[in-house]
Amino acid sequence: IPKGKVRTRFAPSPTGYMHVGNLRTALYTWLIARHAGGTFILRIEDTDQGRLVEGATEVIYRTLAECGLTHDEGPDVGGPVGPYIQSERRNLYGKYAELLVERGAAYYCFCEKAEEDSGDWDRAEDPCRCMSAEEIQANLDAGKPYVIRQKIPHEGTTTFHDVSFGDITVENQTLDDQVLLKRDGLPTYNFANVVDDHLMGITHVVRGSEYLSSAPKYNLLYEAFGWEIPTYVHCSPVMRDQHNKMSKRHGDPSYEDLIAQGYLTPAVLNYVALLGWAPKGERSEQEIFSLAELVDAFDIAGISKSPAIFDLAKLDYFN
Ligand code: GLU
Repeated sequence: IPKGKVRTRFAPSPTGYMHVGNLRTALYTWLIARHAGGTFILRIEDTDQGRLVEGATEVIYRTLAECGLTHDEGPDVGGPVGPYIQSERRNLYGKYAELLVERGAAYYCFCEKAEEDSGDWDRAEDPCRCMSAEEIQANLDAGKPYVIRQKIPHEGTTTFHDVSFGDITVENQTLDDQVLLKRDGLPTYNFANVVDDHLMGITHVVRGSEYLSSAPKYNLLYEAFGWEIPTYVHCSPVMRDQHNKMSKRHGDPSYEDLIAQGYLTPAVLNYVALLGWAPKGERSEQEIFSLAELVDAFDIAGISKSPAIFDLAKLDYFN
């Protein structure tokens, strides 16, 4: 990918405040774009309205602005630079799901099972997967509600490549026919994510490793659409101790908590940058980086695949 053509996005779901792990993802994503002279966009993934936390979007905006992680463009051409808001794009995804149905990579499912919970759904028992065109039409004519599910092949394997984790091969039979479009015609989180990454021309997808297991399903979607698969960079979790991941739910410190405790923004960014990334070459011994130096030094190859432990004592050292 030519340098100026790099396009990255930070795509948070406003389901809680930004903990240090989220801030790190935002920082790495921003650094990859800035280092390459590319474009960084912000996309608020708020299609799952039931999980939204009031005020979370404002915290995201505030945190990014205070850290200087500015984004480049938004839907308001000529207007102020604003983020993309997925819920405002909600009607755009249906036609892509239909396209997959036409191509045999997705199907209408008229079953009355919990639509978003693919977990206890068994495709071997789902008669919709191989329903005849006549039956489908009859159901549609009868006005039966349906979801659109991804049709994962029963056989074979899918290999997915990640910059840090390398090639990951899974048996297709272990993947579920996830719901792409819900009964109300709105996309599921995973589907909107893939469609938007393509429509927004994203070249590098940077995100937490908890999404690694969904990635093979994304690959199959890209293939069915005939779209180019972006470069994936999954970041290992930030841990609060040997065994537990930092999480929004467990009250682990957010950026704003750290500032309230007296830490300075440059120190927090410096610490977060080095939490899972190691500079190479002549900078390999350097411990204190300004944001500009990070832009200069940052390279994807330095991102580690082992979990990093968040250690407040270290942050003191940088202050
Ligand atoms: N919206 C997801 C989250 O906030 C991130 C997904 C992604 O970056 O692809 O956890």
